[in-house]
Amino acid sequence: MWCDPTVTQQPLLDFRSDTVTKPDEAMRAAMASAEVADDVLERDPTMHALEERVAGLLNTEAALWVPSGSMGNLIALFLHLRRGDRFLAAHGSHVLDNELGTAAWIAGGMPHPMDWDAGPGRMSAAAIHDIAGSEPSYHGLNTTLLSLENTHNAAGGTVMPLEEHMQLIAAARECRLRVHLDGARLWNASVALGVAPSELTVGVDTVQVCLSKGLGAPVGSVVAGTEDFVTEARRVRKMLGGGVRQGGILAAAGLIALDRVDALADDHVNAKLLAEGLNELGWSVREPETNIVLAAVPDVRNAVKMLGRLGIQTGPMAGQVRFVTHRDVSTADVKETLHRIGSAS
Ligand SMILES: *Cc1c(COP(=O)(O)O)cnc(C)c1O
Repeated sequence: MWCDPTVTQQPLLDFRSDTVTKPDEAMRAAMASAEVADDVLERDPTMHALEERVAGLLNTEAALWVPSGSMGNLIALFLHLRRGDRFLAAHGSHVLDNELGTAAWIAGGMPHPMDWDAGPGRMSAAAIHDIAGSEPSYHGLNTTLLSLENTHNAAGGTVMPLEEHMQLIAAARECRLRVHLDGARLWNASVALGVAPSELTVGVDTVQVCLSKGLGAPVGSVVAGTEDFVTEARRVRKMLGGGVRQGGILAAAGLIALDRVDALADDHVNAKLLAEGLNELGWSVREPETNIVLAAVPDVRNAVKMLGRLGIQTGPMAGQVRFVTHRDVSTADVKETLHRIGSAS
């Protein structure tokens, strides 16, 4: 076997993403005993229960389980956009950079990345007015959609404050834009702000939330909006190959995941601890707002490799090293991480 003598034998500490969490005993037990039916022919009862519960939490008329956040975003954009319509999204948004361009080539939208003129990952209401506030000329694009992301992943899990959200919604309305919210980590934003998730969906037409990130479900997201939207969304999901039959086994995991939203606060505390410790070791890290810590280093690839040799798994994100805290890394693991980095430098 190929062997690098510098590779540590210590236990791996996995900060690559909050998607690496594994379903625990309670979740597996709920999955094993879930009541199920064919969700393509009729409705799977557990799937239905999950969708109702998420619609309630987000204060939408209805909701639809989807296998991934990317599919949830794509379904929403597909239904909002007509071919050649322009949509606005902050630079680095998942819909722009991490979904293989499907917003353009399947949903048919012309993306317009917006500067972060209101803070990391955040655009201003004025900027929306500038680009979408007047009728397009004969040869101009029709801007019809604003796509928000809260928290913003590539900016470092940054949270959009409530007042700012309302200003953007007002600007979108004045410019006659629909609004989609990529809320893959909306739960984190709600915990960080101490407000209900439904306060962060006020004024949006559609929203996508993930169950497989910090909440630990093995699979699944939910896309939500009006009854009419969800009826159409079911059809698009089928078109994309996302009709699932006895999906209740997966939905059961989602229901357990939803009980764990409050525990995200622990991940936020651990992220702060990690950031403080890294700064004390001479790293350059901005204070995290949620569970993502971005470290600016001269050579990202080398830093990720160096950390890997210490048994600390991270990844590159937006030209920095990204550490994501989650329910499978403890405070003791964070201290161990800092200890290993401190001993190596
Ligand atoms: C993870 C993520 C998604 C969805 O990702 P999938 O891997 O398709 O589930 C969407 N938006 C953001 C901001 C994300 O971080």
